[in-house]
Amino acid sequence: MQKIGVLTSGGDAPGLNACIRAVVRAGHYHGLEVVGIKRGFKGLIEREFEPLTPRDVSLIINRGGTVLLSAREPRFKEHEFRKKAAENIRKEGIDCLFVIGGNGSFQGANLLTKEFGIPVIGIPKTIDNDTYGTEYTIGFDTAVNNAVDAIDKIRDTSMSHERVFVVEVMGRDSGFIALAASIATGADVALIPEYPFPMHVIVDTVVDALKRGKRFSIVVVAEGVASAREIAGILDEKLKPFDFGGVRYSVLGYIQRGGSPTAYDRIIASRFGVFAVEQFVNGKTDIMVALENGKVVAKPLEISFGRIKKPDLTDFELNNILTI
Ligand code: ATP
Repeated sequence: MQKIGVLTSGGDAPGLNACIRAVVRAGHYHGLEVVGIKRGFKGLIEREFEPLTPRDVSLIINRGGTVLLSAREPRFKEHEFRKKAAENIRKEGIDCLFVIGGNGSFQGANLLTKEFGIPVIGIPKTIDNDTYGTEYTIGFDTAVNNAVDAIDKIRDTSMSHERVFVVEVMGRDSGFIALAASIATGADVALIPEYPFPMHVIVDTVVDALKRGKRFSIVVVAEGVASAREIAGILDEKLKPFDFGGVRYSVLGYIQRGGSPTAYDRIIASRFGVFAVEQFVNGKTDIMVALENGKVVAKPLEISFGRIKKPDLTDFELNNILTI
């Protein structure tokens, strides 16, 4: 009987559990044994393996985080430790390793293939949605909905006190969460790293909105641009001459990354997991699963390395049109 291993690596994202469940159940459906590896690559080095049956993944589809735990493991960048991991994979009799992770995890997985001939399949997850080669990464929809939920609440205070609110959202160096949350909440400004504009334009936009009778404004800033505190400080200074309730800021932080995954994340995670197992069953490995034109497809693992995925410019323009 063939055996597959599954691990989650890098930052957690809602939908990881739905994907683990899908890999485990699809594996058993196709007559494979499945082994879960704890704490990502750390568990590969330290041989933290546990068999997973379909019943072991009951009641996790709705849970955030990852039941397999995740970790960042700097030692995996060293050949010596990857060798140890490869030896442990061989000893365990694992025929293919399923890595649910981001760009960095895929690079680690790729080295296992290139250096030791271990077959791997990558499944993309990150709330930031910035993995090149796929339209979607597990966790993004939930993170956006978490941000939208929080901004809707902040808007109540912004409106009641006629204030400008600067809200900082996650996304590392990318603006996918910020742009999506801006469109969905009707924010006046979306500050994202991919389409930057100077501070005076931001000030002018908010001033124009005030002059047009908008008594409150929401500015969404991606963490990769600047801190909400910085932007709020500048706005506060520039907006002093105007009669309104002042500027406040809020950093949403880790609440965006947790919680029960949305239906969309559960469905995509399930599709990705089942498709990944089918690829192995059909003899295709050393690939990553991707969403392309709404369909689940296989791409070379290397496609995601060193490339930058940008949000759609049309969405950016759309946000500007709708704030009139
Ligand atoms: P996230 O989107 O959360 O950042 P990620 O998979 O990109 O996910 P990283 O922290 O970049 O997260 O990588 C996760 C782990 O993958 C690292 O802790 C390390 O063990 C391994 N890894 C990352 N880059 C490499 C690399 N170049 N070579 C070998 N292993 C790597």
